[in-house]
Amino acid sequence: MNLENLQNKIRNIPNFPKPGIEFKDITTLLKDAAAYKEVIDALAQKISQTHIDYIVAIESRGYLLGAPLAYKLGTGLVLVRKPGKLPAEVEKIEYDLEYGKDTLEIHKDSIEKGKKVLVIDDLLATGGTVKATIDLVKKVGGDVVATAFMIELENLHGKEKLPSDIKVYSLFKYK
Ligand code: AMP
Repeated sequence: MNLENLQNKIRNIPNFPKPGIEFKDITTLLKDAAAYKEVIDALAQKISQTHIDYIVAIESRGYLLGAPLAYKLGTGLVLVRKPGKLPAEVEKIEYDLEYGKDTLEIHKDSIEKGKKVLVIDDLLATGGTVKATIDLVKKVGGDVVATAFMIELENLHGKEKLPSDIKVYSLFKYK
């Protein structure tokens, strides 16, 4: 499958979850066995240029990419979760979302000091979520060297929110 055919597996839902947002629904891609595999393989190939110790995945759609990538690349997987879900001591951060406000948490002892981290989510929009996650990872001692997404909404310029020395890998770009 070429990249354009793969991208066409993503369903666009206008005005969800609120007016003016065009929601990128990846469930239609994930249910296609060949498409899901190709997305993971393509992201793994991009990421393999960078040495990483951990993949930090953002709840919840980030897990759908982070888990298979950690398995394929042979890295550990660290979970960033919504408040109140992680059982041990946490570090937390509040951030603005394209729609609303939220808090994310990570286990304080999840990353040894200086370990190289890639942060992954399904989609880069305004960049608020991934920026907050980068700051959260720093708080617990990790060194974020790259981020990766299945989808990048380029018109929202999320990349510009991130430090310029952090690599940004994305598969499907929307203008
Ligand atoms: P942002 O913090 O603005 O970069 O938003 C990224 C987060 O919000 C990701 O976790 C996405 O899953 C979700 N998100 C934002 N905009 C969309 C969209 N248009 N379609 C699907 N998910 C979105």
